[in-house]
Amino acid sequence: MCNELKTRDKAVNWHPYTQMKTADNIIPIIKGEGAYLYDDKGNRYIDAVSSWWVTLHGHAHPYIAQRVSEQLNTLEQVIFAGFTHEPAIRLSENLLQLLPGNQQKVFYSDNGSTAVEVALKMCIQYHYNQGKPKTKILAFKNAYHGDTFGAMSVSGRSAWTQPFGEMLFEVIFIDTPTAENLENLRSELKTISEEVLCFIYEPLIQGAAGMLMYQARDLNELMKLCKEEGILMIQDEVFTGFGRTGKLFAADYLSEQPDIMCFSKGLTGGTLPMGITTCSHKIYNAFLSDDPYKTLFHGHSFTANPLSCTAALASMELLSEEKNQLSIERICQQHAQFAILLKEHQHIENVRQTGTILAWEYKNDQQTSYFNNIGKLFYDEFLSRGILMRPLGNVLYLVPPYCISYEDLEYIYAQIMEILNKTEW
Ligand SMILES: *Cc1c(COP(=O)(O)O)cnc(C)c1O
Repeated sequence: MCNELKTRDKAVNWHPYTQMKTADNIIPIIKGEGAYLYDDKGNRYIDAVSSWWVTLHGHAHPYIAQRVSEQLNTLEQVIFAGFTHEPAIRLSENLLQLLPGNQQKVFYSDNGSTAVEVALKMCIQYHYNQGKPKTKILAFKNAYHGDTFGAMSVSGRSAWTQPFGEMLFEVIFIDTPTAENLENLRSELKTISEEVLCFIYEPLIQGAAGMLMYQARDLNELMKLCKEEGILMIQDEVFTGFGRTGKLFAADYLSEQPDIMCFSKGLTGGTLPMGITTCSHKIYNAFLSDDPYKTLFHGHSFTANPLSCTAALASMELLSEEKNQLSIERICQQHAQFAILLKEHQHIENVRQTGTILAWEYKNDQQTSYFNNIGKLFYDEFLSRGILMRPLGNVLYLVPPYCISYEDLEYIYAQIMEILNKTEW
């Protein structure tokens, strides 16, 4: 029965970001290999979005599978309060070496949203522990930091957050920095800095907002202003981390250092869920006390799960291999070439690229929004050509796994041009 999995799925599963009433094409995937996904009817799809931006080295990577399998047979899970284990120690050691020099401690959690929750709680309690509680948080307009309540609160208000609006805490939203608005941002920061407890931002690129990009130079200036005003900085690298931007971290484009950083998505190569929040000595030391009430009371059942830590270690090893560094460079160059072609197309505007991330907008009469149904038309058209792309409204983008071949990427570009040339939507 061709439809068996589909039917059984519909009977019991509720999918994320999916209007279940109209969801008519949920595809059962039975196998993944490299950049490919295979469905139950034998169709193959090139995963051009790294399965929601997480897969780095391809699906079912044999090396990660082997390492996780060995770990699975050794120690699958242990409470991380009062106990520790080598995978977590090694991962923290290895990661901290790659981060800005001020990042000194690693706190584990389960996903990007929890990494953000931990960061926010660190900042709130940092001030509280010093007897100077503050209540206002600064974030960018259109930000996306996750779907739990704290992470939602610091995300831009949108259709996604609307039903929960009354329950979200107050946040001051500012524009992303440009050479032109930096002076305004400076005076804005000066007037509010007393009450602001931290600033949280996606560096270089606002992913879920529609791959909106801004300059490292301008962010660096804004970070300087925050430092001058004594505002703690949380750099959310959940999406940008682990090579996405062409460098290992967005931090590698910046000379200023954030107080706290968040990681997830590519952290385990997209193999297992895990979140990480790192912080400086300054933050960490504010919790050291003989007073037990100054403890960071946060933790998850699966904090620092050894399997996830091992997957992350294996993925980071792969990432450091020259072969994979060259693949990232090659993807960046291929994207840049294709961007030139896209820019000339009459239906395309705002072509932009940061490293392995390429995005552009399809011009049509409908208003620009996530609910612009042009995205659905493109999605189906790409699927029928064996490509998984998932537009954000009229924003189309590519975030391929680094293992994607030269030929597969060229095939995707060719299909994009063919669709653009034949369609009048
Ligand atoms: C995806 C994302 C998150 C949330 O991560 P989840 O693992 O989906 O909870 C947070 N911040 C950024 C920048 C993201 O792109």
